[in-house]
Amino acid sequence: MSGDRMQQHNSALPVVDLVRIGASAGRAVDATCPSSLAWKARPRSRSARRFPDEHWDGFVLRPVMDAVDRVEFDGVTAEQAIAEIRSQGGRRHPGVTGYAEHAARMYLESHQRGEAGMRPVRELWVSQRLTRSVVWELYAWGRRYESVDGRLREFRFLRQGDALADGRDEATAIAIAAYVAAFGNPAVWPNPWSEPFHPSGRTGTERVRVVSVGLADGVVKPLFEGTAADVEDYFAEHGRSQVGEIAAGRDVVPGFGCADCKRVAVCDGPVRTPGLLGLDDSQGPLRTVSVSGLRYYLRCPAQAYLRSVHLPRAYEYSGEAELGQAVHAWLEEAHEAGPDGCRSRPLPPLGSGWSAGTWQVTGDLADAGVRMLAQHAEVCPFREAPEIENVRVEPRLTVFDTTARAIVLAKPDLVYQEAGQWVWRELKSTQKATRFFTDPLRQFPQLALGVVILSAGALGPGGAGRVELEILRPTGAEIVLIDARDDERVDTARTVLRELAAPWRADRTFEARPSNNCQWCPVSRWCPSYPGPHVEGKDHDSRAKPATAFEQ
Ligand code: SF4
Ligand code: SF4
Repeated sequence: MSGDRMQQHNSALPVVDLVRIGASAGRAVDATCPSSLAWKARPRSRSARRFPDEHWDGFVLRPVMDAVDRVEFDGVTAEQAIAEIRSQGGRRHPGVTGYAEHAARMYLESHQRGEAGMRPVRELWVSQRLTRSVVWELYAWGRRYESVDGRLREFRFLRQGDALADGRDEATAIAIAAYVAAFGNPAVWPNPWSEPFHPSGRTGTERVRVVSVGLADGVVKPLFEGTAADVEDYFAEHGRSQVGEIAAGRDVVPGFGCADCKRVAVCDGPVRTPGLLGLDDSQGPLRTVSVSGLRYYLRCPAQAYLRSVHLPRAYEYSGEAELGQAVHAWLEEAHEAGPDGCRSRPLPPLGSGWSAGTWQVTGDLADAGVRMLAQHAEVCPFREAPEIENVRVEPRLTVFDTTARAIVLAKPDLVYQEAGQWVWRELKSTQKATRFFTDPLRQFPQLALGVVILSAGALGPGGAGRVELEILRPTGAEIVLIDARDDERVDTARTVLRELAAPWRADRTFEARPSNNCQWCPVSRWCPSYPGPHVEGKDHDSRAKPATAFEQ
């Protein structure tokens, strides 16, 4: 795309290729796959996936948008539109309905507080540019408003959680949204999606405002405001070359997006490992799962589902859990600096709080953490280990169990090769003085996943070595070893995973299972089956489960 302003499509011209980039493609999402974005930007490229849909619609903002449409374009009251979310049902999990009602109310209340004299715009704003054989299109999904005289346009991103909590770099997304508001024409969704937009009506405006609205808290966060000339400058800095990079993306970064990607059936990014979860053939939808997700499912299927569609969660970390996260983060930072980083990095001083990554600890917990870090040096895998190579600290691993139709995500604390064999290490921190488990594979299913991944050779060339459990206590450190070449250990690991994964894989509706766990459930505020606090003083803002040993 050149620096020329984008133009309107002439429907008389043949369209050889169509490149369509939405503002959401410009959000810097962790582990976003450039190749996936580039394929998504080509509506005419055929999807290479053939999987059935989920029972529930996972697009949780759909009912919110429908309700706001009803108010803004059909003239119904806010209360009526919100009541329709529940009465019209549809393919929606009851917890998503609870969230959608809240989100629609938050949005409509925030809108009431907004500037008077702005009218809603139903059509998208679309910028098109023609080259000899390609139609380029930019658009932004969200809510649109303009002043009655048409000289001001406002675009609103909708955020599922709190507006201010989202710290991601949004500059390219803002640039695209501002650009289409400043220079685009109104256009309806093309039907089919593989056809170009047919923009018409007034082109552009004089001033543009871009905001995001947090649907959990109703807070409106200003993102950009300026003239059309300001938009040009902003787009030149944050949008133009980035749009080109999105369209040309080739790198393959497997991860959370694989299950929804057009290319998943043919892409070799996720490592294919049929039978990893030990399940029979599934004909169900392709799903993403992690060991944490399976543990959430064990607690309550509804909780697992509502987490998986990213509904806002209450804070869920106890002090012990925060300590474990801080210890992990400190060691991760140290090992990323080099194999002897944990020995060369000064320990935080006793008697004062300390932080690592985004985690902070204070008081007695901070001192306990310092003592744990000091114990790590004794069991650090890099201590006097000349044969260690291919060290990866907290790698994001993506494995495709084609039998179970599951994209399995894992993030071990450390993997490395020792004398050519792969070792998988997990770290646990506890203040309990002694072990209380009999079989680590059953106590910590992520160890079972490590065993089967090593056994399947999914980490690449090199033999299966061992899985290590490093236990750090303020008073000492311990290493538990599991041989990934031991048939009995591999069989047990498969059994552990199968027992966890089979009910999850077979489930379609993810019904609520109220229990004592509800008092610590971080998505209980959306759940119609939430029985209320069992413990005096518990409410929706306090979901931190009391610490058990080995929280991390
Ligand atoms: S399947 Fe995964 S790795 Fe491959 S292109 Fe899609 S998102 Fe990227
Ligand atoms: S409140 Fe209870 S029943 Fe509802 S999702 Fe949470 S754990 Fe499940």
